[in-house]
Amino acid sequence: MSTILETKDLNYIYEGGKHALKNVSVKIPTGCKVAFVGPNGAGKSTLFMHFNGILKQTNGEIEYDSKKMDHSKKGLMNLRKEVTFVMQNPDDQIFNVIVEDDVAFGPFNLDLPVDEVKKRVEESLKMVGMENERKRAIHHLSFGQRKRVAVASALAMYPRVLIMDEPTAGLDPEMVHRLYEIADEVNVNGSTVMISTHDVETAYSWADLVIVIVGGEVLAHGTPFEVFSMRDVLEKAGLSVPMVHELNEFISLNKGKNIYGRTMSTVLLNMRRACAPGTLYVMRPGYKGELHGRVGVYGSLSRSFIDKNDVDIQLKFNAIERCVEEVLNGNHASLYLDASLDHVLNRKLLDVAAHGIIITVEEL
Ligand code: ADP
Repeated sequence: MSTILETKDLNYIYEGGKHALKNVSVKIPTGCKVAFVGPNGAGKSTLFMHFNGILKQTNGEIEYDSKKMDHSKKGLMNLRKEVTFVMQNPDDQIFNVIVEDDVAFGPFNLDLPVDEVKKRVEESLKMVGMENERKRAIHHLSFGQRKRVAVASALAMYPRVLIMDEPTAGLDPEMVHRLYEIADEVNVNGSTVMISTHDVETAYSWADLVIVIVGGEVLAHGTPFEVFSMRDVLEKAGLSVPMVHELNEFISLNKGKNIYGRTMSTVLLNMRRACAPGTLYVMRPGYKGELHGRVGVYGSLSRSFIDKNDVDIQLKFNAIERCVEEVLNGNHASLYLDASLDHVLNRKLLDVAAHGIIITVEEL
């Protein structure tokens, strides 16, 4: 996979002396969906501003499309035709009075034919649901609406790389979903999309690559599953664990294998698949044959038998419940059970059957 942007030991020190980026080395694969996560002040915006040349590194290197970034006026102009940046605060970005003028500004400067500019303005405003506000004065719009205009202006450039700095902050929940949908639409057309966010749940399900930045340093990067498995990193970054990830870990722990899914629907599907119940084998005192899975014991006669015969037991207490758990987790289990206690097991099996799961029981 080719790399669209790469930094090597990038450092940036603001005029006042703040060392905002410290030896940042990241590789952004072409066509990738990347989420940057980390606390406020971590350096995410500072890094993004290097990606489209608003800031120039104090030292270190940055490459765009495998070439050293050209910070000349012409070089930056060319760069910004391809790499567009939606700033955290739309008011830092919008400088036209009327909505459609702002969206048209970028494409117009690409020297595109008027019809093409019109088409892009129409299309981009529609994507963010602002097509009916096209003639309005931007300073009359709400913060969320101004943000949507800023996104539309970026979309109208048909960017190769779309960078959005906390794009969902200040948007209503419906628009947040829509924004990720838009990011996907841009991405399926081949563009690389980078987003910084505090929303770990969406980052987890949306991103291909997650990069954690804290105190100007990259603490971790990898797939969402890899990154959100690093509890020490999350703690340092003050990030919570996405719910879907917790579910993944819980199931993996129980199953002893990774059935990673990035969204609730895939996790549920995997759970169903992984948890097709195993067989519960029931043995009576006296049985000395083969055992399957983990072995439990329930009842005095059975206990006395396994003690005398040195049978290796893993589930020593509450064994009916624990054997049923094993089986519901897709494993086999074996239970030494006194015949007088069969009804306790049967009651448990009926409970489970009431939930639509039939456990196969075989007496050995
Ligand atoms: P993030 O986007 O992760 O919230 P920023 O990149 O905005 O973080 O900030 C990184 C650090 O640089 C912070 O400590 C911030 O206070 C500082 N910083 C940001 N902009 C400036 C600036 N213009 N001048 C001086 N320091 C700045």
